[in-house]
Amino acid sequence: LVLSFGSVNIDVTAKMARLPRPGETVLADGYAIGLGGKGGNQAAAAGRLAGALGLRAALAGRIGNDAFGQQARRELERFGVDLSALREDEGAPTGVALIGVDHNGENAISVAGGANMRIDASDIDLAAALFDAAAVLLLQLEIPMDAVVAAAERVRRTGGLVVLDPAPAPAHELPERLWTLIDVVTPNETETQVLTGVTPDSPESAQQAARTLLERGARAAIVKMGARGVWWQDGNAGGFIPAFPVVAIDSVAAGDCFNAGLAVSLAQGRALADAVRVAAACGALATTRSGAADAAPTWGEVEDLMSR
Ligand code: ADP
Repeated sequence: LVLSFGSVNIDVTAKMARLPRPGETVLADGYAIGLGGKGGNQAAAAGRLAGALGLRAALAGRIGNDAFGQQARRELERFGVDLSALREDEGAPTGVALIGVDHNGENAISVAGGANMRIDASDIDLAAALFDAAAVLLLQLEIPMDAVVAAAERVRRTGGLVVLDPAPAPAHELPERLWTLIDVVTPNETETQVLTGVTPDSPESAQQAARTLLERGARAAIVKMGARGVWWQDGNAGGFIPAFPVVAIDSVAAGDCFNAGLAVSLAQGRALADAVRVAAACGALATTRSGAADAAPTWGEVEDLMSR
């Protein structure tokens, strides 16, 4: 089982020639409404891959008692995600993300967390069976930190792997306790810069950053550099994996699809270097389509890209 514990949002995405500067209004070409939130995206992408591999994907989190919540649930069901641990919270609305995407595929995002921000240890207790069955736990930083740490603790106790996507880039240092519970941390360029002070723009600088992440306590680190590729580091072993050549049109959720691909591969028992290759293929495919969860590839598409 791959379990994602995190945020569920409805994304309102507008396309525009260029993103507005502070104080500026730009006219968008149009907009779309779809499933988002890093927890939901990673669960959906894992759900789309899982069936073909004989695995299951589940999501633990919260939505509000509102129309966006129902929409999020319906969308997640389409990906085959087990939603038995997705709670409806009477006290807050479903999370919403306002997303601008320019014609180069660059994005700017603001998130109103809503019900996501009320997640706590009780969500873990209520879904104890799922947490204990998880071969891989997918975590991100769009829910309260205490809940993230408690979930990591729970899954480590039962022998599952903890994969932390430190996104969005944390405003404060991560708790020391959390570092020691992480099996794989997967920052992008911005997050790597925030966490290590190193700007990863080459395999060498990415390796230097990855080593710093391991010194903090993570067992392995994967530094994601968009079209520049990925550096992975597992103890003294490490390596660079170039990005798959694709025509990128929208980078939203590339990182989420990357982490979903990583998680299902690790749940299959693949070695980290192998799993990173699958993940990079998933991330690359996600950039060829617009939308968040909707951009997630099927296993057939991943195999196809990897064999080219
Ligand atoms: P995030 O989406 O978290 O900001 P990245 O932009 O690094 O992270 O994207 C995640 C992964 O998706 C990358 O590490 C890479 O594997 C893949 N990816 C992203 N952009 C491209 C691209 N233009 N071409 C090929 N692969 C890409």
